[in-house]
Amino acid sequence: MMKTYRSAFLLILLLVTACTGNQDAQLSTRTQSAEAALAATETAEQTQPTAAPTKTANFTPTRTATKIPPTPTITPTPWALSTPSASGLLGGIAPVEYVDDPCTYLANKWGEGKAEPGTIVVPIMFHSILEPGKQPFKAEDITTEYFEFFMGYAKQMGFETVTTAELVDFLENNAPIPKYSMILILDDKRPDTPQLFMPYLEANDWTLTLAVNMGETSVASYWDKTEGYVATGRVEVQAHGYNHLYIQDYTTAEVIEEEIYKPIDEIETRFGNAPQAFIWPGGNFTADAVQVAREAGYAIGFTVFSRGPLMYNRIPLGEPEQAMGDPLMVLPRAWSSAADVALNQALRVSGTAEAQAEEVRQQEELYYSLYCSADDGE
Ligand SMILES: [Zn+2]
Repeated sequence: MMKTYRSAFLLILLLVTACTGNQDAQLSTRTQSAEAALAATETAEQTQPTAAPTKTANFTPTRTATKIPPTPTITPTPWALSTPSASGLLGGIAPVEYVDDPCTYLANKWGEGKAEPGTIVVPIMFHSILEPGKQPFKAEDITTEYFEFFMGYAKQMGFETVTTAELVDFLENNAPIPKYSMILILDDKRPDTPQLFMPYLEANDWTLTLAVNMGETSVASYWDKTEGYVATGRVEVQAHGYNHLYIQDYTTAEVIEEEIYKPIDEIETRFGNAPQAFIWPGGNFTADAVQVAREAGYAIGFTVFSRGPLMYNRIPLGEPEQAMGDPLMVLPRAWSSAADVALNQALRVSGTAEAQAEEVRQQEELYYSLYCSADDGE
């Protein structure tokens, strides 16, 4: 009985909002059950036997539920929140949400001490940075000239870097990070490449993330050098498999587990941190492997697909990643060879997201106060 009263009350409230509020309100539940409508009219009559309150003046209660025309903007249940905009993304790429509970999402989006609307992260994947004068013949490699241009450009455009831990906190809780953020990820065992980053890391107070396959290496100095970088506090190590094995549909469970579990202890022993990110070797992942990575305790994973910038509860994904059903484990990365393009795209996406957030803010705050406030429910 209380439930009926409650629905009816919310219905009236929503109607008032719908009548006085903006016409574009995206109240997506397009059905109104006859029972709910009937309950509304009955309640209206029981609780308002005389003059209707001024706010509901437009609402004329009728006895017969069937006479109420179906009005798409009225709904007795929580409406669907606005969906992420695909503006700025390429065809076939969709912004995918991963927070199931709308109240959690709204609390993180609008709560105090959270990242500001329009905050984006551009993960950038680096491989070889060629010696000056050499031209790349692989798509993942870049020239020293481009590298230097890009690092200066990123700074000039107002970008800062985040660590894996900061990125995870942002993606999970919308924790505050610089509005325009990047995570710079250098793949594979490259004993000397971090040295090229170091002047930029120091000058800008930036960090570099190494995606390291933890199996043995023939380069004797590799571990010493890498431990040296990590000791500066500007470089961190995350997992990139053990033997750098490309996980395929036919890869056995045993091998998948070795690739995913073995780096955890090794990284912790050598570098002192438990890895939170699994960077898929060769960009290869399967649904089984994604699940194993989750169970192993990784919070995020990275592919080699360039899809667009990351936002809180908005991950741009193509079809192969969407099929995994776990957006955070298959995050996209921009290629270093077009990293400046990725930053420009990110700024556009950020601007669109910020404008959209402003548009829906009132509506979302209303939703929160109706369905998410502390005294709701019990
Ligand atoms: Zn690799």
